[in-house]
Amino acid sequence: MKFISTRVGSATGKKPVTFRQAVFTGLPADGGLYVPAEQPDLSARIAGFSEQTSFQELAADVVEELIGDELSPEEVQRVCRRAFTFEPALRPLEEKLTLLELFHGPTCAFKDFGAAFLASVMEEFLRQESRRAVILVATSGDTGSAVARAFHGKANIEVVILYPSGRVSALQEQQLTTVGGNVTVLEIQGSFDDCQRLVKQAFVDSGLRRSLSLSSANSINFGRLLPQALYYIYSSLRLAPGTGNGRMICVPSGNFGNLTAGVYAWLWGMRVDGFIAATNINDVVPEYLITGEFRPRRSLKTISNAMDVGYPSNFERLVVVFQGSAKKMRKWIKGVVITDQETRDTMRRVYRDSGILIDPHTAVGVLASRRHLEDSRYSGHILCLATAHPGKFVDIVEQATGAAPELPPALTEALSKKKITIPLNPTLDLLRKFLLDRYA
Ligand SMILES: *Cc1c(COP(=O)(O)O)cnc(C)c1O
Repeated sequence: MKFISTRVGSATGKKPVTFRQAVFTGLPADGGLYVPAEQPDLSARIAGFSEQTSFQELAADVVEELIGDELSPEEVQRVCRRAFTFEPALRPLEEKLTLLELFHGPTCAFKDFGAAFLASVMEEFLRQESRRAVILVATSGDTGSAVARAFHGKANIEVVILYPSGRVSALQEQQLTTVGGNVTVLEIQGSFDDCQRLVKQAFVDSGLRRSLSLSSANSINFGRLLPQALYYIYSSLRLAPGTGNGRMICVPSGNFGNLTAGVYAWLWGMRVDGFIAATNINDVVPEYLITGEFRPRRSLKTISNAMDVGYPSNFERLVVVFQGSAKKMRKWIKGVVITDQETRDTMRRVYRDSGILIDPHTAVGVLASRRHLEDSRYSGHILCLATAHPGKFVDIVEQATGAAPELPPALTEALSKKKITIPLNPTLDLLRKFLLDRYA
């Protein structure tokens, strides 16, 4: 598999890079995003799987088909075995609606799939090269903890995480700051924007580039997108029998990485009737699907805060897939917008009717799925991605339902550990000095 930039018009965009290069550079120099230069056809592979195929097995087969030109079968096996120590799970909710639970990983959200695979594949590549990489990440919460857990203990990799002091939840801070080992956490005396600015500046700083091999692990890295396509394919095998006339997939969306991964799975041969993009009131993409105009703007705060994105960066990838045509995109992706009040009502109703607690992000997806079933005459089944464990959002879930979700052991464990951070003022000079002193 080779990768080009979404900005194919520019000079650098024309030169394809390998998966390894796309993973370590993260972003092409022209400011676009990496996308596959050609779409592989996996339909024969997919036809060879059955309901009995385990997630790890399926993952190794698909990954080998995709990047087998860069890793041997043994290496691919090792990458997948180390990454996927957890699995997606299907949970029927209503006659025509099933949840795909993606929160059984170490930080209880779907981002564990992407982070675990990226960490594992980077470790494998670095083993071959015997060089050391420093991963630099800015986080406002969840991405950072998924990355910290995934990269913990990986050989030849140092991780430095920047987060805004006092601006993440207590649970997020505990998850982020208690990992230790090769994971160092800088508590920035500033905002999330300061953290992001510092990371961006560090990547282009000539002094740092000369002395260190810096890489990113943020969500637009293709190495995080690829593994997300795997659970779409996996679920398509398990839902197919007995559900009649096909299926659609509903994805609670913010930055649109998860939905984009589903669209790739479809391009690569997975059968699906279409996607539902469920958003909170940050509705830039649903609006585009109606008007054909993309108007990014400041994000608004909601109770499904991991989806509070005003400039969904993966939109650029979707535009390439649908050749810049809103009409084509509309044929495959339906947008549905859900308010906070509707989100709370949905958590309450689902609990009342089925005894199942769902988190606010999943609730946005569940209501969007129901609405689509009601408004269209769709006769198939809807698979709705459950993106986080309800225990991650105890207060919101309890307020809405009157019932307190159990904290999964992975989260309670972090609560009892000691927080270790290094406070730092938000200037590039201080960050540069810290990185050079420690890793050069
Ligand atoms: C990140 C996140 C989302 C949004 O996913 P995107 O890929 O950014 O669209 C939804 N739910 C949860 C719980 C998340 O952490």
